[in-house]
Amino acid sequence: MPDYHLHTWRCGHAAGQMEEYLKTARQKGLTEVGFADHIPMYWLLPEQRDSSLAMREEELALYLAEISRLQAKNPDLTLKVGLEVDYIPGREKELALFLNKYTFDYLIGAVHYLNGWGFDQTTQQAAYANKDPIAVYHRYFSLLKEAALSGLFDIMAHPDLIKKFNYRLVEEPNALYLEAAKAFAQAGVCVEVNTAGLRVPAREIYPCLSFLKICQRCGVPATVGSDAHQPDQVGYGFKEAVQHLKLAGYHEVTLYSRRYRYTHNIVNFKW
Ligand SMILES: [Zn+2]
Ligand SMILES: [Zn+2]
Repeated sequence: MPDYHLHTWRCGHAAGQMEEYLKTARQKGLTEVGFADHIPMYWLLPEQRDSSLAMREEELALYLAEISRLQAKNPDLTLKVGLEVDYIPGREKELALFLNKYTFDYLIGAVHYLNGWGFDQTTQQAAYANKDPIAVYHRYFSLLKEAALSGLFDIMAHPDLIKKFNYRLVEEPNALYLEAAKAFAQAGVCVEVNTAGLRVPAREIYPCLSFLKICQRCGVPATVGSDAHQPDQVGYGFKEAVQHLKLAGYHEVTLYSRRYRYTHNIVNFKW
């Protein structure tokens, strides 16, 4: 079973050395792990970047080198090189140039900002009170679609992150889920089943079951990740994640190597 979404101390708000993450992976019986630390804040000038939100640009080469060093040292595990990449509309060309300088197994596209508002940051949570929830959801899902269709990413991170602090709409936004799932299918990206949702006020895996079912019906493949920000969170909630996937009709999860995908059967997964 793979875990494709691990952070490390390098992003400034997670704890732990890569080696410690591998130790937990081994203890939990995972065979494959992918690091997906936050991309340097390419859309800001170096002096405006917040080193508590993402790794500094000079760290990226060290991050990549450490993964290959650890792969050589840990032949019993398969290590993958990923990155969690913020989607900032209008900055696609700049991002493509940045990403082309390196080699990755996969790129996880993420919407963390709505017109500069870091809506998933605890320190910016108060801003929900002054906003129209319907407008917020529409803006979020429209950016998510745009991100998928940009062609820059392989996987869409935590696709209903907007529910993180439990600001919910009265009615479940199934039409928004469907539009997003269709865009994922058209773009050939995976939906990420991300268990971090279980650790926040939403108390629910990203995406929720109805969104995941719609993705499955649209033929969108899925990956799985814990979004671990400390070593003991590797594989967090994977029993629930596999249950969630199966309830949505999935029999496999997707793996990547150098941005080509293949599959891993989850039918006989036991935890
Ligand atoms: Zn994220
Ligand atoms: Zn993450």
